[in-house]
Amino acid sequence: MAISPRVKALAVSQTLAMSQKSAELKAQGIDIINLSVGEPDFNTPDHIKQAGIKAIEENYSFYSPVPGYMSLRKAIADKLSRENGLSFEPTQIVVGNGAKHSLCNVIMATVAPGDEVIIPTPAWVSYVEMVKLAEGKSVLVPTGLEQNFKITPAQLEAAITPRTTAIILCSPSNPTGSVYTREELQSLVDVLARYPQVLVIADEIYEHINYTGGDFVSLASFPEIADRTVVINGVSKAYAMTGWRIGYCAAPLEIAKAVTKLQGQFTSGASSIAQKAAEAAYTGPQDCVEEMRRAFERRRDLVVRLAREIPGLGVNEPQGAFYLFPEVSAYIGRSFGDRVIKDSGDLAMYLLDEAHVATVDGAAFCAPGYIRLSYATSDENIVEAMRRIAAALAKLS
Ligand code: PMP
Ligand code: GLU
Repeated sequence: MAISPRVKALAVSQTLAMSQKSAELKAQGIDIINLSVGEPDFNTPDHIKQAGIKAIEENYSFYSPVPGYMSLRKAIADKLSRENGLSFEPTQIVVGNGAKHSLCNVIMATVAPGDEVIIPTPAWVSYVEMVKLAEGKSVLVPTGLEQNFKITPAQLEAAITPRTTAIILCSPSNPTGSVYTREELQSLVDVLARYPQVLVIADEIYEHINYTGGDFVSLASFPEIADRTVVINGVSKAYAMTGWRIGYCAAPLEIAKAVTKLQGQFTSGASSIAQKAAEAAYTGPQDCVEEMRRAFERRRDLVVRLAREIPGLGVNEPQGAFYLFPEVSAYIGRSFGDRVIKDSGDLAMYLLDEAHVATVDGAAFCAPGYIRLSYATSDENIVEAMRRIAAALAKLS
């Protein structure tokens, strides 16, 4: 059977693969704690579920307009204005099947073969693969624990070439939890302002899972780059709606039109029922968002404290999202019996086999030498997982 080179060249999503593996082991009766995939462990709030049920009862069972129901696009435009101070027209918003799909749409619509896309790393698993699919070239800009995983203006400037088409910035970041401050964003914007050909793609899916105590700052709120910034966001994380599959891009009109054309040939409008539920999420009471944020913050404190008690782990204090990204190089080269830990991938597999804790190899995020732990799980699971990890690491010599 012939598989296209385009798909052959794609890597499997490691976050989803590790989660799948952990589900298989669980099905065999093994007591796995899954810290691999990142998704809120809360149920979707009731008023949102009710809106989904009502949508079914009211026969929202027909194709929706390709870019989404106008009522949802208006609700998103209102949200962007109310929460982020942004002025997008509903026509500039295209609803897709999750932020992942929306991001892929934007990349496919704007990146031509050979175009360079700047991706600061560690970076979420799908960015590089989407750019590959568009036959673009990812220009990785590495950052480490020592700079709290944030790129500097000098690094950004050095990465820009005449072929640079776009940069993808994710704050709060998956996988590191780092959040750029307004000042840090301004210093990057000062650089970007000098390169008007560069499209800025701001992945803001974790905007509400923010522990800085300050307001979230959207990259699109900087006037210097506002007219060439695309915001990617959705309901998955803020409203615990990962399975509903609703995300969006808010973009310059020309890009929104291109994305709509692409989506019209590829997937059509997103699920009609899920769109009505997402509309309720944006227009309804927002206390659920803060309640979940508080729970994540408490878990962040817990996981950081427990990780810092484990010798040899390099641990930052994530300011957002629900991931810890410890540096594990102290354990590379060690062994347990005849099992040698050659890299962070081996370590993640060792933790799965020995500690029965599923994590993700940092290499999946272009950052070998680290592993990612999702702490979007109960306090009991966090405590037990960290106990098991500490015990398994202590066995390595
Ligand atoms: N961007 C980042 C950084 C993410 O972590 C995720 C969740 N995996 C997404 C985008 C996509 O989210 P969804 O497709 O569920 O809206
Ligand atoms: N945000 C999640 C993660 O990074 C979802 C999995 C995915 O879409 O890759 O684990």
